[in-house]
Amino acid sequence: MPLRMKGREVAQSVYQQLREQMRGLTFTPSLRVVRLGRDPASVSYTRLKDKRARELGLDSKVLELPAATSQQELLALITELNAAAEVDGILVQLPLPEHIDEGSVIEAISPEKDVDGFHPYNVGRLWAGKETLEPCTPAGILRILDHYQIDLAGMEAVIVGRSNIVGKPLAAMLLSRNATVTIAHSRTRELADVTRRAELLVAAVGRARFIKAEMVRQGAVLIDVGINRVDDKLVGDVDPAARELSRAYTPVPGGVGPMTVAMLLANTVKAALRRRR
Ligand code: NAP
Repeated sequence: MPLRMKGREVAQSVYQQLREQMRGLTFTPSLRVVRLGRDPASVSYTRLKDKRARELGLDSKVLELPAATSQQELLALITELNAAAEVDGILVQLPLPEHIDEGSVIEAISPEKDVDGFHPYNVGRLWAGKETLEPCTPAGILRILDHYQIDLAGMEAVIVGRSNIVGKPLAAMLLSRNATVTIAHSRTRELADVTRRAELLVAAVGRARFIKAEMVRQGAVLIDVGINRVDDKLVGDVDPAARELSRAYTPVPGGVGPMTVAMLLANTVKAALRRRR
């Protein structure tokens, strides 16, 4: 029977560690989540982040701006938050409306408050193998693998998906753990041949049940990052039949998802400790 790696439980252990870390602090770490407009997924993600942050005892606020907010107004708000002594972490919920250049917004956030870990300064530090604020989803995946004592050294890892928020940073993190890393994407030829080589296969594609059994090596570890809504149900990028071949897998929901929020709060506490000590 493959092992079900329960991100929800690992997330609880992260929260427990954070509670211990925060005991004895003379200040309350603070997070500001900025959202433009009322895209339903963005509303639910920002609410969840705020809820978990408050449960942990952080000073958290969601700053809700109209969808029509100009780039200049958004940048002015970020400048203000960068300068605010009491603010430790700034997160701008993506995607942003079309009229706003995401890259400029990410670069405007002070790297020391960049709790999403998307600023090019932090991305560069990550690839240079230096300590940094790491992007939350890949950091959560590493925490799950560590929790279940998956030894990554020398492992053949294949990541399907090359986004800046999942695939690319995860590749840097797996490399730093001495895995042999391949990143596949929509232009990869003979994808099934590539994925069948994987001892660790990560699906970050955004297509429901995309990874089929014939794409999976017997005994592989499967990480399913996908969140797809099908008939009002959340399903991952990995077909349930493919899991049967694995040695361990993450479910959807209850796998990688809960870890992303937990690592965001871990980054907020880390940013606060760095700034205020
Ligand atoms: P994204 O930016 O849309 O990237 C998707 C990647 O999949 C791209 O690199 C794309 O290749 C590749 N791809 C698409 N079709 C393919 C195909 N037929 N064959 C091979 N590769 C293909 O997605 P993302 O932001 O990384 O998110 C991926 C999924 O993870 C989504 O379902 C998202 O909702 C979910 N997600 C979950 C969490 C969480 O906390 N659990 C966090 C972030 C994202 P190209 O680059 O060539 O287009």
